[in-house]
Amino acid sequence: MLLNYKMKTFQHSFVEFIPDYIEEGILYISIKYHTAVHKCACGCGSEIVTPISPTDWRVTYNGETTSLYPSIGNWGLECKSHYWIENDKVIFARSWSEKEIEQGRNLDKKRKNQYFSKWKKRKK
Ligand SMILES: [Zn+2]
Repeated sequence: MLLNYKMKTFQHSFVEFIPDYIEEGILYISIKYHTAVHKCACGCGSEIVTPISPTDWRVTYNGETTSLYPSIGNWGLECKSHYWIENDKVIFARSWSEKEIEQGRNLDKKRKNQYFSKWKKRKK
């Protein structure tokens, strides 16, 4: 069987403000507001907002393509899609189990606590 498989790609757009209308297949990146927005790669149309910070996502731009790190897990959405955006390409990952989602959340909490406690120490 031949599969007509087309790799899903994103174009990136560096913007000052995130536009009201988010176009499918474009990753909008606002450096000013430390935010990236795109429409869910599964095609369900949901807008995914990824804050850019040391404890959230980071965007890498190599002069041609962009990557978002870590992966995007839309557990709160009906589609529950999970994917990476790497060099403007979408790499779908398998969905996580409830247990893995829970573990991911705990790790995230731990990471944030560490980050903020470090920041507090520095402030003193
Ligand atoms: Zn989706």
